[in-house]
Amino acid sequence: MEKHNFSIEFFPPKTPEGAEKLRATRVKLSELNPKYFSVTFGAGGTTQQGTLDTVREILAAGEQAAPHLSCVGGSRTSIRAVLADFKAAGVRRIVALRGDLPSGYGASGEFRYANELVEFIRAETGDHFHIEVAAYPEVHPQARSPQDDLQAFARKVQAGADAAITQYFYNADAYFQFVEQTQKMGINVPIVAGIMPITNYTQLMRFSDMCGAEIPRWVRLKLSSFGDDSASIKAFGLDVVTGLCERLLEGGAPGLHFYSMNQAAPTTALWQRLVK
Ligand SMILES: Cc1cc2nc3c(=O)[nH]c(=O)nc-3n(C[C@H](O)[C@H](O)[C@H](O)COP(=O)(O)OP(=O)(O)OC[C@H]3O[C@@H](n4cnc5c(N)ncnc54)[C@H](O)[C@@H]3O)c2cc1C
Repeated sequence: MEKHNFSIEFFPPKTPEGAEKLRATRVKLSELNPKYFSVTFGAGGTTQQGTLDTVREILAAGEQAAPHLSCVGGSRTSIRAVLADFKAAGVRRIVALRGDLPSGYGASGEFRYANELVEFIRAETGDHFHIEVAAYPEVHPQARSPQDDLQAFARKVQAGADAAITQYFYNADAYFQFVEQTQKMGINVPIVAGIMPITNYTQLMRFSDMCGAEIPRWVRLKLSSFGDDSASIKAFGLDVVTGLCERLLEGGAPGLHFYSMNQAAPTTALWQRLVK
């Protein structure tokens, strides 16, 4: 069925119940035949074991898995050890990030930006890993300017990234503009669009504030007008995000990466609308 390059993101569960739930989610989502499942990595290595355990389980089930690896707070020695664990587990694909340390966490470690991590992975492990990096069509919230952010993205590709996954967004034009600008700079790696299904208004507003994703006014007003009516929020969210995905694919997006939030239903509903 693999018409498009679709991948699905999980976060490592914190409890045995969470692990059980994620197992069931993964089994359901496997039926969609995604290219791979990625598993996030808490900044400062806070989920290191959970990420590795989750990735091992996915690989043991015969699926492709890509751990994320964030470098903030890490040292060359600690990142080298994580890379060795990934390699030993049979990992061939990594999503390489800077990460964000929680406030009060202290020293930021030996890596300042994700391009330094990509460079380190290549120097240590050659071409063993396919490396994905993050891209921000609506501009990373800490960037000094959109142009600076674009340069930062270019440095990650120059350091050896093979492809990129974007932060989620609901403005397709921001994505197309970003891709066009990178192409003008001679960057030709695939830039897969990150997709956040809409299922919960409060949670969406909180996440979007943190990561700098803009919720278009009309979408925000409609979602808030539904109040506690979760069925209407989900139905409207599904329509909006399906429309976004269709536009992206028709406009040439090389793939979609679904932020599943460890739930099967929202990603499945979207996917079934897209892959008819
Ligand atoms: C697909 C995806 C997956 C993610 N997964 C995780 C995860 O698993 N764990 C996690 O903790 N976080 C994750 N994040 C969040 C990410 O860690 C944060 O967005 C973080 O703030 C930036 O990471 P980055 O790798 O994009 O950093 P970078 O590319 O290093 O950029 C960070 C900021 O620094 C600026 N910058 C870069 N280089 C320079 C320079 N030389 N001088 C000045 N400024 C510079 C950039 O413009 C940007 O504002 C993910 C994000 C995405 C899009």
